Amino acid sequence: MNRALTFFLAVIAAIPAAAQARPFPGPDVQQIYQRLLPQIEKIPAFDHHAHPGYADDPDVDAMAAPPNASSALRTREDNPELAAAAKALFGYPYTDLSADHAKWLLEKKTALKKQLAGPAYFNSILDKLNIESSVANRAMMPDYLDPKRFPWVFFADSFLWPFNNERETARNSDQGVFIPLQEKMLHRWMQQESVTRLPAALTDYLKFISEVLEDNSKRGGIAMKFEVAYFRPTTFSDPTREQAEEIYQKYVAAGIPSERDYRTFQDYIFRYLISEGGRLHLPVHIHTAVGIGDYFNLSQSNIMNLESVLRDPRYASTTFVMIHGGYPLEREAIWLAAMKNVYLDSSFGELAQYPSAFKDTLKMWLETFPDKITFGTDCFPYNQILGSEEAYWLGVHSTRTALAAALAEMISENEITEPRALELAHAYLHDTAVKLYEGRVH
Ligand SMILES: [Zn+2]
Repeated sequence: MNRALTFFLAVIAAIPAAAQARPFPGPDVQQIYQRLLPQIEKIPAFDHHAHPGYADDPDVDAMAAPPNASSALRTREDNPELAAAAKALFGYPYTDLSADHAKWLLEKKTALKKQLAGPAYFNSILDKLNIESSVANRAMMPDYLDPKRFPWVFFADSFLWPFNNERETARNSDQGVFIPLQEKMLHRWMQQESVTRLPAALTDYLKFISEVLEDNSKRGGIAMKFEVAYFRPTTFSDPTREQAEEIYQKYVAAGIPSERDYRTFQDYIFRYLISEGGRLHLPVHIHTAVGIGDYFNLSQSNIMNLESVLRDPRYASTTFVMIHGGYPLEREAIWLAAMKNVYLDSSFGELAQYPSAFKDTLKMWLETFPDKITFGTDCFPYNQILGSEEAYWLGVHSTRTALAAALAEMISENEITEPRALELAHAYLHDTAVKLYEGRVH
């Protein structure tokens, strides 16, 4: 036997028999899970998508929940897991959230807010959950959130709605809530830039948009967010500047544009904004999932509608984050992350699903593009009882358990080693997202 062959055989022998992946986890999967979970709990997380704030703060989002909208099972107020959240965070002594018991929680939170004035209260919530920092995707930032730990992601949709929106607002009761809030947001950007009325020419409107983006970036904004799927289909045509100019000039002062003209104009503005995101190093976050409101149209907002935009080399310098990972189309969505500048965020998936199902989502993503996925909670102050505090807990807790379970299966099925699993956990929970912001977040 020659030396090279001897060496080769020695190498082969050194690879554990386990190198061949198998289709079922072994009996050790529970043990691996128990070993991984405490290590995963120790990883300080970066929450890539959240809406922290108090329930009575109208700036938590640039839109609001439409009245009487349906909620999926786990996001309902009577979810018993919320009592566990209150127990973990505030020492809540009851196992249910009956009106009587919930009073205890309300009083406890009020006392704590007094004790921990200013940003100390929400910083203490992050500390309890081992979240190093959390994106605050909000209309505006309040003084009770510490900008070092809550980097701001502002909303960019309102630039799509500069004309008379009467017809859009009347379309259904959801739009009746959403569109006036977009008009309000656009007005606030105008106030910020001391613009009293919209300019007569498109060139100046685009200049105004860029000024808002630049100023927001200076004020701590790390990314722009679109929730455009709530307002219209996410299929974007590719109009010329002349087309956009003509529509703008015709309708900026008065008149109701046809649906077709309005969309054409919006398609142009959307493309302008994402190009600016590349120039200004402002990653672009896009809501890609089901949404609140009974009129939310899933097929018209299918994440795959964005494929032609994401795979367009003109936007190669723009970083895209697909917020909510396309849920419930997360299987298709992960293949969009083949683009070097496209990332997926898993927030809401961990609330819409229980950990047993969310584990399978994470596993499939970890097995495909593990370096392109990021963690988020989508926490939101639903009401005084179910605050963003409890929503943070539910999101973090669900994600860490589902992640430990997904990785335990992958180890037990001989797909990866345990050290590699922990590297992947660090990347997903923290490192991959933080790198996108070039030193602006930690
Ligand atoms: Zn959200």
